[in-house]
Amino acid sequence: MQTGVRRVKNFVGGELVEGVKDEWQEVINPSTGEKIAEVPRGSEEDVDRAVEAADRAFADWFETTPGERSAMLLKLADIVEENGEELAQLESKNVGKPLPMAREEMEFVADNLRFFAGACRVMEGKAAGEYIRGYTSMIRREPVGVVGQVAPWNFPLMMAGWKIGPALAAGNTVVLKPSEQTPLSTLRLMELAAEVFPPGVLNVITGDGEPVGAGIVRHPKVGMVSLTGDVATGKEVARAAAATLKRVHLELGGKAPVVVFDDADLEAVVEGIRVGGYSNSGQDCTASSRVIAAPGIYENLASGLAEAVSDIRVADPAEDEDAEMGPVISAAHQQRVLGFLERARDTGVEFLAGGKRNGRGFFIEPTLVAGPDQRSEIVQKEVFGPVVTIQRTRDEDELIAWANDVPYGLAASVWTRDIGRAMRVARALRFGTVWINDHLVPLASEMPHGGFKQSGYGKDMSTYSIDDYTVVKHVVANLG
Ligand code: NAD
Repeated sequence: MQTGVRRVKNFVGGELVEGVKDEWQEVINPSTGEKIAEVPRGSEEDVDRAVEAADRAFADWFETTPGERSAMLLKLADIVEENGEELAQLESKNVGKPLPMAREEMEFVADNLRFFAGACRVMEGKAAGEYIRGYTSMIRREPVGVVGQVAPWNFPLMMAGWKIGPALAAGNTVVLKPSEQTPLSTLRLMELAAEVFPPGVLNVITGDGEPVGAGIVRHPKVGMVSLTGDVATGKEVARAAAATLKRVHLELGGKAPVVVFDDADLEAVVEGIRVGGYSNSGQDCTASSRVIAAPGIYENLASGLAEAVSDIRVADPAEDEDAEMGPVISAAHQQRVLGFLERARDTGVEFLAGGKRNGRGFFIEPTLVAGPDQRSEIVQKEVFGPVVTIQRTRDEDELIAWANDVPYGLAASVWTRDIGRAMRVARALRFGTVWINDHLVPLASEMPHGGFKQSGYGKDMSTYSIDDYTVVKHVVANLG
């Protein structure tokens, strides 16, 4: 072990524990490529230990009232808020994101937990009544039991909050696996909040997708799995979950179109894409990655965007507090993104900005690619980096057709001053969220987030997500 590199423990059965095997994996700062911590490299045995703890805890947790669970979630939210600066610093270092962005995320984690603390106390449902003469029917919404949750690396603590908030509010116990690349903020929160929940109600274990993520999916005592991750991982999880017919909740990749009509406010579109396409280095499932422009606005939009994108301040957030964009998450991911750019270059597209690696660490220049074919890889696949494409279309029908013509369906935006057209297009777009005259609008805990098509199924945030973490039971009483 390198001196000064901390070994951070898992959280199982209410205690901070090392892995069952004495194996560790390194966590890297993507701005520098340096190792910043080690965490247990989990095994099937770690999965088993955590699931057993969650299973044992379920019986007593099932007896808790919404009010009791709410009080604990509020305590957790307070801990996030009180330690927001430390958690944001850790997140910024581990993900390479600008500190102001990480700070906003911590505030939102606290808000999200508070929302679920409140929402579980005011759940609504069908009226009990006599739907059959002589019998009273009543609907109960019950927890699933042990829920397994697997998170991605791009918004580590925020994704953890979106998962554990509704699951615990609904009365489930949880085994959560953060990404092997960015587990530090979630583990630190467990150190700070070890006393909040009864032992075993919330467990956090680290390790790779296989064996830990997949081990959670395989475990017979896990009743439901929620994954936020890549589409390919989602398919793998759904396939594996079928063996035990687990419920599956999938928040997967995206390829958000930005549909721009001739009458759009040009300055607003440019600013919207500058933020929406490049914040978090474009590693956002709702990033404005595909601009599809009407013919009358295309030239001005392309040149305005080229200028705005070239102006984005890229730096190690630890060295430059005004950095707008940091690195991508890893050397492997940097290679993957550059691979997309090289292959696109071969197809004759024009690079209006960026296109290369940049500096030490895993940096890539903010990149704008003009004129790719609708069927090309860079339009059809999620790049998940600071890369936006811009295409010119003929008319409204083609704008809508191209916008919908990808396997994903997470988020989209439409830009026009014509209210009728905005509503018509919002209806026609097959995406779980559609923004009108904006992109990457600040999130609201009350509103759902989730995909259509291969972006997955199930909702995060909002009361819809509590519903997703419950099962409906029909109780029928014979009145005779
Ligand atoms: P990933 O799919 O590589 O990994 C996600 C998590 O799944 C990790 O914890 C990983 O260890 C685990 N995993 C990998 N293989 C597994 C398996 N076979 N079984 C169980 N778990 C497994 O995704 P990533 O690279 O960490 O994150 C980026 C992806 O996440 C992008 O596609 C992005 O669009 C998506 N994402 C979606 C949303 C959303 O809300 N829809 C939000 C954030 C990120």
